[in-house]
Amino acid sequence: MQGVFRVIPRSQHSISRKNISNGALRVLYRLHEGGFRACLVGGAVRDLLLGNRPKDFDVATDATPEQVRTLFRNCRLIGRRFRLAHVVFGREIVEVATFRGSSDDGSGDRHLVDGRLVRDNVYGSIEEDALRRDFTINALYYDIADFSVLDAVGGMDDLARRQLRLIGDPQQRYREDPVRMLRAARLAAKLDFAIEPATAAPFAELGALLGEAAPARLFDESLKLFLGGYGLASLHALERHDLLERVFPATARALQTDVDGQFRALLEQTLANTDARVREDKPVTPAFLFAAMLWGPVRLRAQAGIERGADAAGAWSQAVDHVLREQAQRVAIPRRFTLAVEEIWTLQSRFEQRTRKRALRLLEHPRFRAAYDFLVLRRGESAQIDELAAWWTHLQSLGNEALAQEFAATPASAAEPTAAAPAKRKRPRRRRRKGKAATTPLAESAE
Ligand code: ATP
Ligand code: MG
Repeated sequence: MQGVFRVIPRSQHSISRKNISNGALRVLYRLHEGGFRACLVGGAVRDLLLGNRPKDFDVATDATPEQVRTLFRNCRLIGRRFRLAHVVFGREIVEVATFRGSSDDGSGDRHLVDGRLVRDNVYGSIEEDALRRDFTINALYYDIADFSVLDAVGGMDDLARRQLRLIGDPQQRYREDPVRMLRAARLAAKLDFAIEPATAAPFAELGALLGEAAPARLFDESLKLFLGGYGLASLHALERHDLLERVFPATARALQTDVDGQFRALLEQTLANTDARVREDKPVTPAFLFAAMLWGPVRLRAQAGIERGADAAGAWSQAVDHVLREQAQRVAIPRRFTLAVEEIWTLQSRFEQRTRKRALRLLEHPRFRAAYDFLVLRRGESAQIDELAAWWTHLQSLGNEALAQEFAATPASAAEPTAAAPAKRKRPRRRRRKGKAATTPLAESAE
Protein backbone atom coordinates (compact mmCIF):
# COMPACT_ATOMS: atom_id res chain seq x y z
CA MET A 1 0.00 0.00 0.00
CA GLN A 2 3.06 2.27 0.26
CA GLY A 3 2.39 3.36 -3.32
CA VAL A 4 -0.72 5.35 -2.38
CA PHE A 5 1.49 7.82 -0.59
CA ARG A 6 2.68 10.92 -2.30
CA VAL A 7 6.09 11.57 -0.77
CA ILE A 8 7.11 15.21 -0.75
CA PRO A 9 10.86 15.37 -0.10
CA ARG A 10 12.39 17.89 2.30
CA SER A 11 13.49 20.11 -0.58
CA GLN A 12 9.90 20.55 -1.76
CA HIS A 13 8.06 21.58 1.39
CA SER A 14 8.45 24.31 3.96
CA ILE A 15 8.55 22.41 7.26
CA SER A 16 11.70 23.15 9.18
CA ARG A 17 12.76 21.45 12.40
CA LYS A 18 13.40 24.78 14.05
CA ASN A 19 9.64 25.36 14.14
CA ILE A 20 8.97 22.04 15.87
CA SER A 21 8.98 22.02 19.66
CA ASN A 22 11.88 20.46 21.52
CA GLY A 23 9.59 17.97 23.20
CA ALA A 24 8.12 16.77 19.91
CA LEU A 25 11.58 16.45 18.33
CA ARG A 26 12.85 14.42 21.28
CA VAL A 27 9.87 12.07 21.04
CA LEU A 28 10.30 11.66 17.29
CA TYR A 29 14.05 10.95 17.51
CA ARG A 30 13.73 8.55 20.45
CA LEU A 31 11.04 6.51 18.67
CA HIS A 32 13.10 6.48 15.48
CA GLU A 33 16.23 5.33 17.33
CA GLY A 34 14.10 2.65 18.99
CA GLY A 35 13.38 1.22 15.55
CA PHE A 36 9.87 2.60 15.18
CA ARG A 37 8.27 4.83 12.59
CA ALA A 38 7.71 8.29 13.97
CA CYS A 39 5.82 11.13 12.32
CA LEU A 40 4.41 14.46 13.25
CA VAL A 41 0.75 14.46 12.25
CA GLY A 42 -2.52 16.37 12.24
CA GLY A 43 -2.95 20.03 13.08
CA ALA A 44 0.78 20.62 13.64
CA VAL A 45 1.80 19.50 10.12
CA ARG A 46 -1.10 21.45 8.62
CA ASP A 47 -0.25 24.61 10.55
CA LEU A 48 3.50 24.37 9.81
CA LEU A 49 2.80 24.01 6.09
CA LEU A 50 0.55 27.08 6.28
CA GLY A 51 3.27 29.02 8.06
CA ASN A 52 1.29 29.21 11.31
CA ARG A 53 2.49 28.34 14.80
CA PRO A 54 0.96 25.02 15.92
CA LYS A 55 -0.95 24.96 19.19
CA ASP A 56 0.44 21.55 20.06
CA PHE A 57 2.38 18.74 18.46
CA ASP A 58 0.92 15.28 17.93
CA VAL A 59 3.04 12.27 17.03
CA ALA A 60 1.92 9.09 15.29
CA THR A 61 3.94 5.88 15.44
CA ASP A 62 3.78 2.15 14.88
CA ALA A 63 4.90 1.58 18.48
CA THR A 64 2.05 0.47 20.75
CA PRO A 65 1.25 2.63 23.79
CA GLU A 66 3.00 0.07 25.97
CA GLN A 67 6.13 0.21 23.79
CA VAL A 68 6.03 4.01 23.95
CA ARG A 69 5.96 3.79 27.71
CA THR A 70 9.08 1.65 27.83
CA LEU A 71 10.94 4.34 25.84
CA PHE A 72 9.93 7.31 28.01
CA ARG A 73 9.97 7.59 31.76
CA ASN A 74 7.98 10.84 31.62
CA CYS A 75 5.04 9.06 29.99
CA ARG A 76 1.49 8.19 31.00
CA LEU A 77 -1.13 6.22 29.12
CA ILE A 78 -4.57 7.82 28.89
CA GLY A 79 -7.97 7.35 27.28
CA ARG A 80 -10.31 4.43 26.91
CA ARG A 81 -12.27 5.35 23.81
CA PHE A 82 -8.96 6.17 22.20
CA ARG A 83 -5.81 4.99 24.02
CA LEU A 84 -2.87 7.38 23.81
CA ALA A 85 0.49 8.06 25.41
CA HIS A 86 1.30 11.48 26.82
CA VAL A 87 4.98 12.31 27.09
CA VAL A 88 5.54 15.22 29.44
CA PHE A 89 8.37 17.76 29.21
CA GLY A 90 7.75 20.41 31.84
CA ARG A 91 4.80 22.40 30.54
CA GLU A 92 4.74 20.68 27.17
CA ILE A 93 2.75 17.50 26.59
CA VAL A 94 3.38 15.56 23.40
CA GLU A 95 0.54 13.26 22.45
CA VAL A 96 1.70 9.98 20.92
CA ALA A 97 -0.88 7.84 19.15
CA THR A 98 -0.37 4.44 17.58
CA PHE A 99 -1.44 4.16 13.92
CA ARG A 100 -5.10 3.11 13.82
CA GLY A 101 -6.32 0.44 11.42
CA SER A 102 -9.16 0.91 8.97
CA SER A 103 -10.84 -2.45 9.27
CA ASP A 104 -11.68 -4.62 12.20
CA ASP A 105 -11.29 -8.35 11.79
CA GLY A 106 -12.80 -8.79 15.23
CA SER A 107 -9.46 -9.22 16.99
CA GLY A 108 -9.05 -5.58 17.97
CA ASP A 109 -10.87 -3.17 20.20
CA ARG A 110 -13.26 -1.18 18.03
CA HIS A 111 -16.94 -0.59 18.67
CA LEU A 112 -19.62 1.04 16.59
CA VAL A 113 -23.08 1.74 18.00
CA ASP A 114 -25.68 2.69 15.37
CA GLY A 115 -22.83 3.60 13.03
CA ARG A 116 -21.17 5.72 15.71
CA LEU A 117 -17.60 5.09 16.68
CA VAL A 118 -17.51 4.65 20.44
CA ARG A 119 -14.13 2.97 20.72
CA ASP A 120 -11.22 2.84 18.33
CA ASN A 121 -8.19 0.88 19.46
CA VAL A 122 -7.50 -1.26 16.41
CA TYR A 123 -3.92 -0.70 15.33
CA GLY A 124 -2.85 -0.62 11.70
CA SER A 125 -0.56 0.86 9.09
CA ILE A 126 0.23 4.52 8.51
CA GLU A 127 -1.85 4.40 5.31
CA GLU A 128 -4.85 3.14 7.27
CA ASP A 129 -4.21 5.72 9.95
CA ALA A 130 -4.45 8.50 7.36
CA LEU A 131 -7.81 7.23 6.10
CA ARG A 132 -9.55 7.30 9.47
CA ARG A 133 -8.64 10.93 10.15
CA ASP A 134 -11.25 13.61 9.50
CA PHE A 135 -10.10 16.09 6.85
CA THR A 136 -7.45 15.62 4.17
CA ILE A 137 -5.43 18.57 5.48
CA ASN A 138 -5.35 16.88 8.90
CA ALA A 139 -3.95 13.64 7.47
CA LEU A 140 -0.47 14.78 6.46
CA TYR A 141 2.59 13.19 8.12
CA TYR A 142 6.04 14.64 8.61
CA ASP A 143 8.41 11.68 8.74
CA ILE A 144 11.42 12.12 11.02
CA ALA A 145 13.28 9.36 9.14
CA ASP A 146 13.94 11.58 6.09
CA PHE A 147 12.04 14.82 6.86
CA SER A 148 9.59 14.20 4.02
CA VAL A 149 5.85 14.89 4.09
CA LEU A 150 3.57 11.93 3.34
CA ASP A 151 0.20 12.52 1.72
CA ALA A 152 -2.17 9.63 1.04
CA VAL A 153 -5.40 11.59 0.65
CA GLY A 154 -4.70 14.69 -1.42
CA GLY A 155 -4.18 16.91 1.60
CA MET A 156 -1.46 19.00 -0.07
CA ASP A 157 -3.82 19.90 -2.93
CA ASP A 158 -6.58 20.87 -0.51
CA LEU A 159 -4.15 23.01 1.48
CA ALA A 160 -3.27 24.83 -1.73
CA ARG A 161 -6.96 25.23 -2.58
CA ARG A 162 -7.66 26.33 0.99
CA GLN A 163 -10.52 23.93 1.51
CA LEU A 164 -11.67 21.35 4.05
CA ARG A 165 -12.52 18.02 2.53
CA LEU A 166 -13.67 15.05 4.55
CA ILE A 167 -11.83 11.80 3.84
CA GLY A 168 -14.12 9.06 2.53
CA ASP A 169 -17.90 9.09 2.29
CA PRO A 170 -19.17 12.21 4.12
CA GLN A 171 -22.47 10.61 5.15
CA GLN A 172 -20.71 7.68 6.76
CA ARG A 173 -18.02 9.81 8.39
CA TYR A 174 -20.58 12.12 10.01
CA ARG A 175 -22.65 9.19 11.18
CA GLU A 176 -19.54 7.72 12.82
CA ASP A 177 -18.93 11.00 14.59
CA PRO A 178 -21.34 13.96 14.19
CA VAL A 179 -18.91 16.28 16.00
CA ARG A 180 -16.91 16.28 12.75
CA MET A 181 -19.52 18.73 11.44
CA LEU A 182 -18.56 21.19 14.17
CA ARG A 183 -14.88 20.55 13.53
CA ALA A 184 -15.45 21.46 9.88
CA ALA A 185 -17.01 24.78 10.86
CA ARG A 186 -14.35 25.47 13.48
CA LEU A 187 -11.39 24.74 11.23
CA ALA A 188 -12.95 26.68 8.34
CA ALA A 189 -13.22 29.66 10.69
CA LYS A 190 -9.75 29.26 12.16
CA LEU A 191 -7.93 28.78 8.87
CA ASP A 192 -10.25 30.94 6.76
CA PHE A 193 -10.79 27.95 4.49
CA ALA A 194 -13.91 26.98 2.54
CA ILE A 195 -15.76 23.76 3.28
CA GLU A 196 -15.75 21.76 0.06
CA PRO A 197 -19.37 21.33 -1.20
CA ALA A 198 -19.65 17.54 -0.78
CA THR A 199 -18.27 17.93 2.76
CA ALA A 200 -20.88 20.56 3.67
CA ALA A 201 -23.79 18.93 1.80
CA PRO A 202 -24.85 16.47 4.55
CA PHE A 203 -25.11 19.17 7.27
CA ALA A 204 -28.80 19.83 6.60
CA GLU A 205 -29.77 16.18 6.75
CA LEU A 206 -27.36 14.95 9.42
CA GLY A 207 -27.07 18.05 11.61
CA ALA A 208 -29.76 16.59 13.85
CA LEU A 209 -27.31 13.81 14.84
CA LEU A 210 -25.52 16.43 16.93
CA GLY A 211 -28.51 16.18 19.26
CA GLU A 212 -27.25 12.70 20.15
CA ALA A 213 -23.62 13.66 20.65
CA ALA A 214 -22.36 13.45 24.22
CA PRO A 215 -23.09 16.79 25.96
CA ALA A 216 -19.69 16.68 27.67
CA ARG A 217 -17.96 16.51 24.32
CA LEU A 218 -20.10 19.34 22.98
CA PHE A 219 -19.01 21.43 25.94
CA ASP A 220 -15.34 20.82 25.06
CA GLU A 221 -16.01 21.55 21.41
CA SER A 222 -17.92 24.74 22.32
CA LEU A 223 -14.87 26.04 24.17
CA LYS A 224 -12.66 25.25 21.17
CA LEU A 225 -15.15 27.02 18.90
CA PHE A 226 -15.63 30.17 20.94
CA LEU A 227 -12.60 30.50 23.21
CA GLY A 228 -9.96 29.28 20.76
CA GLY A 229 -9.16 32.71 19.36
CA TYR A 230 -11.55 32.56 16.39
CA GLY A 231 -14.87 32.80 18.17
CA LEU A 232 -16.50 35.42 15.98
CA ALA A 233 -15.54 33.62 12.78
CA SER A 234 -16.76 30.35 14.33
CA LEU A 235 -20.15 31.88 15.12
CA HIS A 236 -20.50 33.03 11.53
CA ALA A 237 -19.38 29.67 10.14
CA LEU A 238 -21.89 27.82 12.34
CA GLU A 239 -24.68 30.16 11.27
CA ARG A 240 -23.75 29.96 7.60
CA HIS A 241 -23.94 26.18 7.73
CA ASP A 242 -27.10 26.01 9.89
CA LEU A 243 -25.21 24.28 12.69
CA LEU A 244 -25.64 26.85 15.46
CA GLU A 245 -29.25 25.74 15.94
CA ARG A 246 -28.02 22.18 16.56
CA VAL A 247 -25.86 23.11 19.53
CA PHE A 248 -27.27 26.43 20.79
CA PRO A 249 -30.88 26.32 19.58
CA ALA A 250 -32.18 29.15 21.77
CA THR A 251 -29.28 31.38 20.76
CA ALA A 252 -29.89 30.66 17.07
CA ARG A 253 -33.62 31.48 17.47
CA ALA A 254 -32.91 34.69 19.38
CA LEU A 255 -30.46 35.80 16.67
CA GLN A 256 -33.04 35.10 13.97
CA THR A 257 -35.78 37.11 15.71
CA ASP A 258 -33.44 39.89 16.82
CA VAL A 259 -35.08 42.68 14.81
CA ASP A 260 -33.10 45.59 16.21
CA GLY A 261 -29.83 43.65 16.11
CA GLN A 262 -29.04 44.31 19.78
CA PHE A 263 -28.43 40.72 20.75
CA ARG A 264 -26.26 40.12 17.70
CA ALA A 265 -24.25 43.22 18.51
CA LEU A 266 -23.73 42.10 22.12
CA LEU A 267 -22.71 38.57 21.15
CA GLU A 268 -20.42 39.63 18.31
CA GLN A 269 -18.74 42.24 20.49
CA THR A 270 -18.25 39.63 23.23
CA LEU A 271 -16.62 37.23 20.79
CA ALA A 272 -14.47 39.95 19.21
CA ASN A 273 -13.25 40.98 22.69
CA THR A 274 -12.61 37.34 23.57
CA ASP A 275 -10.62 36.78 20.37
CA ALA A 276 -8.51 39.83 21.14
CA ARG A 277 -7.84 38.60 24.69
CA VAL A 278 -6.77 35.17 23.40
CA ARG A 279 -4.38 36.84 20.97
CA GLU A 280 -2.88 38.79 23.87
CA ASP A 281 -2.62 35.61 25.99
CA LYS A 282 -5.08 37.00 28.55
CA PRO A 283 -7.39 34.61 30.39
CA VAL A 284 -10.93 34.08 29.12
CA THR A 285 -13.82 32.52 31.02
CA PRO A 286 -16.51 30.14 29.80
CA ALA A 287 -19.01 31.79 32.17
CA PHE A 288 -18.81 35.13 30.40
CA LEU A 289 -19.14 33.41 27.04
CA PHE A 290 -22.27 31.51 28.06
CA ALA A 291 -23.72 34.60 29.77
CA ALA A 292 -23.50 36.36 26.40
CA MET A 293 -24.62 33.38 24.27
CA LEU A 294 -27.77 32.95 26.34
CA TRP A 295 -28.55 36.58 27.16
CA GLY A 296 -30.84 37.02 24.14
CA PRO A 297 -32.87 33.90 24.99
CA VAL A 298 -33.17 34.70 28.70
CA ARG A 299 -34.21 38.28 28.03
CA LEU A 300 -36.84 37.26 25.49
CA ARG A 301 -38.28 34.72 27.84
CA ALA A 302 -38.36 37.05 30.84
CA GLN A 303 -40.05 39.75 28.80
CA ALA A 304 -42.66 37.30 27.57
CA GLY A 305 -43.34 36.34 31.18
CA ILE A 306 -43.71 39.95 32.23
CA GLU A 307 -46.06 40.62 29.31
CA ARG A 308 -48.19 37.72 30.49
CA GLY A 309 -48.50 39.46 33.85
CA ALA A 310 -45.80 37.80 35.95
CA ASP A 311 -43.84 40.00 38.35
CA ALA A 312 -40.39 40.91 37.08
CA ALA A 313 -38.41 38.93 39.65
CA GLY A 314 -40.49 35.80 39.12
CA ALA A 315 -40.34 36.07 35.34
CA TRP A 316 -36.56 36.50 35.34
CA SER A 317 -36.03 33.67 37.77
CA GLN A 318 -38.18 31.34 35.68
CA ALA A 319 -36.42 32.42 32.47
CA VAL A 320 -32.93 31.89 33.93
CA ASP A 321 -33.81 28.39 35.12
CA HIS A 322 -35.51 27.43 31.89
CA VAL A 323 -32.81 28.69 29.53
CA LEU A 324 -29.93 27.15 31.47
CA ARG A 325 -31.75 23.86 31.90
CA GLU A 326 -32.64 23.65 28.21
CA GLN A 327 -29.08 24.47 27.13
CA ALA A 328 -27.65 21.88 29.51
CA GLN A 329 -29.49 19.17 27.62
CA ARG A 330 -27.23 19.86 24.62
CA VAL A 331 -24.03 21.15 26.12
CA ALA A 332 -22.92 19.97 29.56
CA ILE A 333 -21.87 23.29 31.06
CA PRO A 334 -20.35 22.44 34.44
CA ARG A 335 -22.27 23.77 37.39
CA ARG A 336 -19.56 26.16 38.54
CA PHE A 337 -19.97 27.98 35.22
CA THR A 338 -23.79 28.10 35.21
CA LEU A 339 -23.66 29.49 38.75
CA ALA A 340 -21.32 32.22 37.53
CA VAL A 341 -23.59 32.91 34.54
CA GLU A 342 -26.53 33.36 36.92
CA GLU A 343 -24.46 35.69 39.02
CA ILE A 344 -23.39 37.86 36.09
CA TRP A 345 -27.04 38.13 35.03
CA THR A 346 -28.38 38.70 38.55
CA LEU A 347 -25.91 41.49 39.27
CA GLN A 348 -27.30 43.42 36.29
CA SER A 349 -30.31 44.56 38.29
CA ARG A 350 -28.12 45.64 41.18
CA PHE A 351 -26.39 48.17 38.94
CA GLU A 352 -29.67 50.05 38.97
CA GLN A 353 -29.51 50.57 42.73
CA ARG A 354 -27.39 53.65 42.93
CA THR A 355 -27.54 54.50 46.61
CA ARG A 356 -24.17 54.98 48.24
CA LYS A 357 -24.37 51.93 50.44
CA ARG A 358 -25.48 49.55 47.71
CA ALA A 359 -23.11 50.91 45.10
CA LEU A 360 -20.09 50.60 47.36
CA ARG A 361 -21.09 47.09 48.31
CA LEU A 362 -21.48 46.13 44.66
CA LEU A 363 -18.01 47.47 43.85
CA GLU A 364 -16.65 44.97 46.38
CA HIS A 365 -18.51 42.02 44.92
CA PRO A 366 -16.17 39.27 43.72
CA ARG A 367 -18.02 39.05 40.39
CA PHE A 368 -18.28 42.84 39.97
CA ARG A 369 -15.74 43.02 37.16
CA ALA A 370 -17.42 40.41 34.95
CA ALA A 371 -20.89 41.84 35.64
CA TYR A 372 -19.71 45.38 34.89
CA ASP A 373 -18.04 44.26 31.64
CA PHE A 374 -21.35 42.63 30.74
CA LEU A 375 -23.26 45.83 31.52
CA VAL A 376 -20.95 47.71 29.17
CA LEU A 377 -21.76 45.21 26.42
CA ARG A 378 -25.48 45.87 27.00
CA ARG A 379 -25.19 49.60 26.32
CA GLY A 380 -27.07 49.31 23.02
CA GLU A 381 -30.17 47.97 24.76
CA SER A 382 -31.53 51.35 25.83
CA ALA A 383 -30.51 54.91 26.59
CA GLN A 384 -31.07 54.04 30.24
CA ILE A 385 -28.56 51.16 30.20
CA ASP A 386 -26.11 53.30 28.30
CA GLU A 387 -26.34 56.01 30.96
CA LEU A 388 -26.05 53.40 33.69
CA ALA A 389 -22.89 51.91 32.19
CA ALA A 390 -21.40 55.37 31.84
CA TRP A 391 -22.20 56.11 35.50
CA TRP A 392 -20.50 52.93 36.73
CA THR A 393 -17.51 53.60 34.54
CA HIS A 394 -17.32 57.10 35.98
CA LEU A 395 -17.76 55.78 39.53
CA GLN A 396 -14.73 53.53 39.27
CA SER A 397 -12.57 56.43 38.19
CA LEU A 398 -13.32 58.44 41.35
CA GLY A 399 -11.29 58.85 44.52
CA ASN A 400 -12.98 58.73 47.95
CA GLU A 401 -13.82 62.41 48.16
CA ALA A 402 -15.26 62.59 44.70
CA LEU A 403 -17.24 59.43 45.47
CA ALA A 404 -18.96 61.13 48.43
CA GLN A 405 -19.93 64.13 46.29
CA GLU A 406 -21.17 61.84 43.58
CA PHE A 407 -23.79 60.34 45.88
CA ALA A 408 -24.92 63.74 47.14
CA ALA A 409 -25.74 64.53 43.49
CA THR A 410 -27.50 61.28 42.57
CA PRO A 411 -31.16 61.93 41.74
CA ALA A 412 -33.54 59.96 43.93
CA SER A 413 -35.27 58.37 40.94
CA ALA A 414 -32.02 56.81 39.75
CA ALA A 415 -31.89 54.77 42.93
CA GLU A 416 -35.10 52.94 42.06
CA PRO A 417 -34.70 49.56 40.40
CA THR A 418 -36.56 48.81 37.17
CA ALA A 419 -37.56 45.53 35.61
CA ALA A 420 -34.94 45.57 32.86
CA ALA A 421 -32.77 42.87 34.36
CA PRO A 422 -33.02 39.87 36.63
CA ALA A 423 -33.54 40.64 40.28
CA LYS A 424 -31.57 38.92 42.97
CA ARG A 425 -33.41 35.89 44.12
CA LYS A 426 -33.12 33.48 46.94
CA ARG A 427 -32.70 29.85 46.23
CA PRO A 428 -31.81 27.03 48.55
CA ARG A 429 -28.14 26.22 48.39
CA ARG A 430 -27.38 22.83 47.03
CA ARG A 431 -25.22 20.74 49.23
CA ARG A 432 -22.33 19.26 47.38
CA ARG A 433 -22.31 15.53 47.71
CA LYS A 434 -19.22 13.93 49.11
CA GLY A 435 -16.82 12.17 46.78
CA LYS A 436 -18.07 13.81 43.62
CA ALA A 437 -15.86 16.23 41.79
CA ALA A 438 -17.48 19.57 40.99
CA THR A 439 -16.66 19.09 37.32
CA THR A 440 -18.58 15.98 36.30
CA PRO A 441 -20.46 17.73 33.51
CA LEU A 442 -22.99 15.04 32.66
CA ALA A 443 -24.12 14.33 36.17
CA GLU A 444 -24.43 17.99 36.97
CA SER A 445 -26.27 19.12 33.89
CA ALA A 446 -28.79 16.31 34.23
CA GLU A 447 -30.12 17.85 37.42
P1 ATP B 1 -6.29 22.32 16.43
O1 ATP B 1 -5.32 23.19 15.73
O2 ATP B 1 -7.53 23.02 16.77
O3 ATP B 1 -5.70 21.53 17.55
P2 ATP B 1 -6.32 19.76 15.16
O4 ATP B 1 -6.60 19.35 13.75
O5 ATP B 1 -4.94 19.53 15.66
O6 ATP B 1 -6.74 21.27 15.30
P3 ATP B 1 -7.13 18.04 17.29
O7 ATP B 1 -8.45 17.96 17.98
O8 ATP B 1 -5.93 18.44 18.06
O9 ATP B 1 -7.36 19.03 16.07
O10 ATP B 1 -6.91 16.64 16.59
C1 ATP B 1 -5.65 16.21 16.11
C2 ATP B 1 -5.83 15.34 14.87
O11 ATP B 1 -6.60 14.17 15.18
C3 ATP B 1 -6.61 16.01 13.74
O12 ATP B 1 -5.78 16.81 12.94
C4 ATP B 1 -7.16 14.81 12.99
O13 ATP B 1 -6.20 14.22 12.17
C5 ATP B 1 -7.47 13.83 14.11
N1 ATP B 1 -8.86 13.97 14.61
C6 ATP B 1 -9.29 14.74 15.62
N2 ATP B 1 -10.61 14.61 15.82
C7 ATP B 1 -11.03 13.71 14.91
C8 ATP B 1 -12.30 13.13 14.62
N3 ATP B 1 -13.39 13.48 15.30
N4 ATP B 1 -12.37 12.22 13.62
C9 ATP B 1 -11.25 11.87 12.92
N5 ATP B 1 -10.04 12.38 13.15
C10 ATP B 1 -9.92 13.28 14.14
MG1 MG C 1 -4.20 19.77 17.69
